[in-house]
Amino acid sequence: MDSGLSAQLSRIVGAENLIEQADARTRYGGDQWWYAIAAQAAGQAISRPDIAVTPTTPEQVAAIVKLANEQRVPITPWGGGSGVQGAANADRGGIVMDLRKLNKVRHIDHQSLTCVVEAGKICKEFEAELNAIGLSFTHYPASTEWATIGGSIGARGSGVLSTKYGKIEDHVLSLEFVTPTGELITTPSVPRHAAGPELTQLQIGAEGTLGVITAAVVKLRRLPRKRVFGVMSFARLSDGIEAGRRIMVTGLRPPVMRLYDVEAASHSLARAVETPLDKPTLVMMFDGEYPDLVDMEAHYGLNICRECNGELLPARLGEIWWEKRYVFYYPPYAPELPSIWGTVDVVADFEHIEAVYNETTRAIRSVVPDSFNLSLTTHLSHWYEWGSMIYARMKIPKGPDDLTEAKELHDMIFRAGVEAAMKAGAVLNDHHGVGMRLAPYMPAQYGQGMDTLRRIKQALDPNNILCPGKLGL
Ligand SMILES: Cc1cc2nc3c(=O)[nH]c(=O)nc-3n(C[C@H](O)[C@H](O)[C@H](O)COP(=O)(O)OP(=O)(O)OC[C@H]3O[C@@H](n4cnc5c(N)ncnc54)[C@H](O)[C@@H]3O)c2cc1C
Repeated sequence: MDSGLSAQLSRIVGAENLIEQADARTRYGGDQWWYAIAAQAAGQAISRPDIAVTPTTPEQVAAIVKLANEQRVPITPWGGGSGVQGAANADRGGIVMDLRKLNKVRHIDHQSLTCVVEAGKICKEFEAELNAIGLSFTHYPASTEWATIGGSIGARGSGVLSTKYGKIEDHVLSLEFVTPTGELITTPSVPRHAAGPELTQLQIGAEGTLGVITAAVVKLRRLPRKRVFGVMSFARLSDGIEAGRRIMVTGLRPPVMRLYDVEAASHSLARAVETPLDKPTLVMMFDGEYPDLVDMEAHYGLNICRECNGELLPARLGEIWWEKRYVFYYPPYAPELPSIWGTVDVVADFEHIEAVYNETTRAIRSVVPDSFNLSLTTHLSHWYEWGSMIYARMKIPKGPDDLTEAKELHDMIFRAGVEAAMKAGAVLNDHHGVGMRLAPYMPAQYGQGMDTLRRIKQALDPNNILCPGKLGL
């Protein structure tokens, strides 16, 4: 890399906020996509930044982007690096911009229950600070320890409470961001207006391709005074899906509603709650400010499950699940090399949901030779009034030793799963984003609309410096 660029960056952020090549390549060698991890372990990291910067103010972010644009250097925003689709990898070199020093809570509006928080704030730290004053962000991704507010917005993330409180796009009122040509702008202060199209939503899910988010105005909530758990088992997954559908269309809103298929229930859920389970199982949690309303909502929710042939299990299992809700994502539950792992998390309406589940799981199973001992566990969570997410998690305990062969196997499984899901009526992804991994499927997802997306990218980022190639753009 041009040494002049390093000196210019140093003048913007100070030498203490500059990480030179060898160090940058070690620290930002890959996100949490299986292939990024495997490639890094094999000494062939896909993320190869020439330099990394850790700006401390939005003005510094703007100056860095302006400089990168003038010099045509790729720039990749980095939040917690916890993404699983390869979005934060600097696979074309250039600058990695780590935003975690932009981590102030600038202002809390106690009347409107909104907050201005900087993009590099780690979700878990933000939540802890809010909880200390009786408030909550209600965005609880399983990666809360690493994920930043900006990365969650960039990847269009979701958390375990989303069925009641919404995905990240429902939490954001407005944004402060730097355009690909280096202007620092803010969007209208509230998201419900008729003052033209929604610039805020254009940045959400853009995975850093259309701007660098420096701060967000987000919705806060009061911590609930009561939580009630309900756990049901079903003889057939389709009964559980019908129960979930009826709960959503009748207006009940459990923040947590996770329906595990028989493999997920008997393997991962049973292990976490330390109780044998051999049927599809639904874990629900209801919460709120008024205890009697919470009880009543739970009562109606459980009644719907009974009408759908559900059998009540001890509520204590739900409490244990809540206490251990993040353990699934860490060793010994989470896979490690030499395994191959990953998730096909897609979203579909109720009309298509069962076909999507059946076709996706069948397609994945059909392409993996028995000798690889595939484990496939699937759950439905993040429900909407019109449908739900399906999260099919696959693991192969030991993949081929050769990285290229392992990647081919990984890609074959994902191609089978993603193509089957889309054919059965699903949208490509629910909350992990697109990154490098799903980029090849974007034209099929958008059709003619892909051209519109490309033209937006071209208009905003004429030199293609921000996350080039991501989102298939
Ligand atoms: C164990 C585990 C559990 C997970 N559980 C969940 C879950 O429950 N829910 C969920 O939604 N996801 C989950 N994820 C995926 C991941 O944590 C999310 O995608 C998260 O939103 C990424 O945040 P991050 O700060 O780490 O972003 P990164 O991975 O650093 O970046 C993600 C994308 O956003 C861009 N970006 C980052 N910051 C900015 C910014 N300020 N402005 C513009 N673009 C930016 C990056 O360039 C990249 O394209 C999980 C991942 C792991 C490893």
